[in-house]
Amino acid sequence: MSKDCIHLQSAGKRDGNTAGCEECLQSGDSWVHLRVCLACGHVGCCDDSKNKHATRHFHATGHPVIRSGEPGESWGWCYVDRLFKDPV
Ligand SMILES: [Zn+2]
Ligand SMILES: [Zn+2]
Ligand SMILES: [Zn+2]
Repeated sequence: MSKDCIHLQSAGKRDGNTAGCEECLQSGDSWVHLRVCLACGHVGCCDDSKNKHATRHFHATGHPVIRSGEPGESWGWCYVDRLFKDPV
């Protein structure tokens, strides 16, 4: 469990570009939780949401690291290494 992840180490803090999932806001869909891409600030919905836009964003762009977009949560996640990271 002590595997290093270069993506999470090099990812900075970043605010989301939008207040909700960008794609869901456009299509009028709802989401469960929000995830913020730390490469570009894209806000997407989590895998509990029906559209899974955060995961789709990773597959579309290759941006590997997201953090939770939920208030009070600041953990990160790397899709490439499938690794969680607690806030520093
Ligand atoms: Zn990684
Ligand atoms: Zn969405
Ligand atoms: Zn991105």
